[in-house]
Amino acid sequence: MSIKQTIHCPNCGDRAERYRCSETNILRTSCYYCDYLLVQCSQTGKVIEAYAPGIDATTLRSEMPVTAHRQH
Ligand SMILES: [Zn+2]
Repeated sequence: MSIKQTIHCPNCGDRAERYRCSETNILRTSCYYCDYLLVQCSQTGKVIEAYAPGIDATTLRSEMPVTAHRQH
């Protein structure tokens, strides 16, 4: 099962949603307003996928390679 939380988006400060899956330990944060996306392992904190419009996604990287998508 997954637990949903509403948090403040780290990118734009608006409301974002965070889902935590208890089986896979995947933490997924996504923001409607600015398309911010962060998928990480909640146990190790490793970033699996990150996307943040307007900022360099490599700054979000911890140890894992980051898949960065740019639209502009
Ligand atoms: Zn946002």
